[in-house]
Amino acid sequence: MRVLVLGAGQLARMMALEAIPLNIEVQAFDVRSDQIVDPINQQVLGEGLQQALRDADVVTAEFEHIPQAVLEPCEQSGKFLPGSRAILSGGDRRVEKALLQQAGVANAAYAEVHNKAELEAAVQQLGLPLVLKSALEGYDGKGQWRLKQMEQLDAVWTEIAQFLKQASKKAKQGIVAEQFIPFDYEVSLVGARSNNGDTVFYPLTENHHVNGVLSVSLARPEHPLQAQAERMFQAIADELDYVGVLAIEFFVVGEQLLVNELAPRVHNSGHWTQQGADTSQFANHIRAVCGLPLGATSVLRPTLMVNILGLDQLPDALLTIPGLHLHWYGKTARPGRKMGHINLSADTTEQLAKRFEQLIALLPEEDFPELELLLPKI
Ligand code: ATP
Ligand code: MG
Ligand code: MG
Repeated sequence: MRVLVLGAGQLARMMALEAIPLNIEVQAFDVRSDQIVDPINQQVLGEGLQQALRDADVVTAEFEHIPQAVLEPCEQSGKFLPGSRAILSGGDRRVEKALLQQAGVANAAYAEVHNKAELEAAVQQLGLPLVLKSALEGYDGKGQWRLKQMEQLDAVWTEIAQFLKQASKKAKQGIVAEQFIPFDYEVSLVGARSNNGDTVFYPLTENHHVNGVLSVSLARPEHPLQAQAERMFQAIADELDYVGVLAIEFFVVGEQLLVNELAPRVHNSGHWTQQGADTSQFANHIRAVCGLPLGATSVLRPTLMVNILGLDQLPDALLTIPGLHLHWYGKTARPGRKMGHINLSADTTEQLAKRFEQLIALLPEEDFPELELLLPKI
C-alpha cells in the first residue's frame, strides 16, 4: 500500500517512519516544487501531481494551506482523506467558523471584515479587545493583529489594508475579527476517526506558546474537561465525515472549552504520543486513512514535549537523561524554524519534574525561554 502526503515536511516524515513497520510506503508531494519526494531523506522520486496521484492508493495531507488547484484533482481522485472540505476548514478561517457554527460547538464570537467600516461595526458588535486574523495562510500566530483600544483602529486598519493589498490574487484573502477570550490556559485534543466512524482520543494536552509559537506540550490524562472536548470533537468530525487524525485547539475558560481552531492533520501538540502513548498519532493517522483498525491511545507514562526552534544542534549530554528522546527533522536551520522536538517521559509526574529540571539545565536559555515557569505545573 502506498500513501501520498501533500506536503514534504516533518509531519510527512514522521508518518513515513511509522508506516514502515506497517508495510506501508509513504511518498510526499511538495506542493511548492511540484516534486514527489521521499519524506524521510528528501530524495526526489518523480514530478507532477498527476503521477503522484496515479501511483498512490490513498492521498492525505500534512498541512492545510493547499492551493485549490492541488485540492481539486486530489478530491477527484477519490482517494483523498480527510478530503478537501476538511482541509479547507483548517485552511480558511471563514470556512472554519461556519463549520463550528454548523456543528454547534462553542467558539469565540466573530465577524468577517473587508474594510474599515466593517472593522468599526465589528467593534460595535463584539467589543474590545479584538483579535484580527488573516482568513488564509495563518500559522504560528503570523497574520494576526490585536486591537485593544478604539484609538488604534486607524493604525491597525492601515497595516491590515497593506497586508491585504499584497495578498496573492489567486486566493481570496480576507480577515476574521474575533472577540478576545481572556482564557485561563490552552489545551488541544488529538483524536482519530476511522472510515466506519470509530473514534479514539488521546488525553487533552496543555500547550504553552512563546511569541505565538508552541513551545511545550504536557499530556494531561484525566483532565476534567476531557469528555466536553470529546463531544465537541465528535460533533465536528461527524459533520465532516472525517477520516484520519484531527486536532482541535481550545481555550479553557473556567469549566468551559471554546474551540480556537482546527488542524485537519497530525499536530505538533500530539508529538508526545511517540513515546507517551500506546499508538502514536502518526501511526493512527496512517491506520485511519488506510482503512485499518485504530490503535489504542492509552497513556504509557507521564510525558511532555519541548519544541526545538532555530537550532540544529544540542549538547549530546541531553541523551544521558533517562526517558529523553530526541527527534530531529533534518532541516536547514533558520531563526525560529521548527527543527525538531524533545519528548521526555518518566514513571511518575514527580520523576518527570526532576528530569525536566535536568533538561532545562542543559538547554541554552536564550533558545528555550520560560521553561522553568512550567516546572511547578508538572
Ligand atoms: P497555529 O500555529 O497553532 O496554527 P495560528 O497562527 O493559526 O497558530 P491561532 O491558534 O488562531 O493562530 O492563534 C495563536 C494564538 O493566539 C493562540 O494559541 C492564542 O494564544 C492566541 N489567540 C488566538 N485567538 C485568540 C482569541 N480570540 N482570544 C485570545 N487569544 C487568542
Ligand atoms: Mg492555525
Ligand atoms: Mg493555533
